[in-house]
Amino acid sequence: MSDIHKIQPLHVPGVSDYHVHCDYSIDAQGTVDEFCEAAIKRNLAEICFTTHFDANPNSDGQVEYIRVKGENRPVTVENLQPYVEDVRRVAEKYYAEGLSVKLGIEIGWYPGCEEMVERLKQQYHFDYVLCGIHELDNICFCCRHSYERCFGRYSAEQLAEKYYTEVQVAARTGLFDTMAHLAYYLRSGLDYYGDAVAVAHRPHLDETLRTLIDHNVGIEVNTAGIRHGLKNYYPPVEIINSARRAGVGVSFLGSDAHSPEQIGFDFEAALALVPDTVQGCED
Ligand SMILES: [Zn+2]
Ligand SMILES: [Zn+2]
Ligand SMILES: [Zn+2]
Repeated sequence: MSDIHKIQPLHVPGVSDYHVHCDYSIDAQGTVDEFCEAAIKRNLAEICFTTHFDANPNSDGQVEYIRVKGENRPVTVENLQPYVEDVRRVAEKYYAEGLSVKLGIEIGWYPGCEEMVERLKQQYHFDYVLCGIHELDNICFCCRHSYERCFGRYSAEQLAEKYYTEVQVAARTGLFDTMAHLAYYLRSGLDYYGDAVAVAHRPHLDETLRTLIDHNVGIEVNTAGIRHGLKNYYPPVEIINSARRAGVGVSFLGSDAHSPEQIGFDFEAALALVPDTVQGCED
């Protein structure tokens, strides 16, 4: 059980958290019910569960699983069914308590995933589909055990070129609503490369933002950066501001919570960047 009693209510009503991992994600803890209880304590109006779906058959490193009732199962379209049912169940249960619960997914991007994503979207009617870019050339740059192997292949400039190319390719598929945690390579990249990586996006930003607009893909403000010890969200404010100026939708706040007490993490400050996430009073 997590430290749910430590959760402080957000003083702004009507706020949504659109990036939440319950324990169907193998790196998360807390049931969907526990997350909903936490969201109510945090005074959120809405949460969207976005469990990991990492199905890259060529992924170098550990095999990915979905956790169902405490048991790890292979990541297949069919094995996601209990998650979908569980989210639908709590959506009904907590509606009566004034919490809106949405069904989302964070699909781990890899080149060639399009057909699988289409099948997944046909099978389940998601309210929200996040594109999570965690790998380059099939090597994860987020995991502690593999990021050096990934970064070792590129200079900071090459890394950014590679990463933003993948962002654009993924956006062009038209399969995703939102790019999860844009510039997530900063998580370990700042330590690895130093300051060079903090500006490496600049030559690629305009084209990337144009591609996002053309294919109607938004970005989120993902507050996990602060939890990871960075001074910034994913993406940093500089990119958020450029995206907004360019006309990219910046409509979702996501805590990327992996346990219930992380729900709505740092939203007091982050809200200023995503004013549209606050809903009007419905009744
Ligand atoms: Zn995770
Ligand atoms: Zn992610
Ligand atoms: Zn996530």
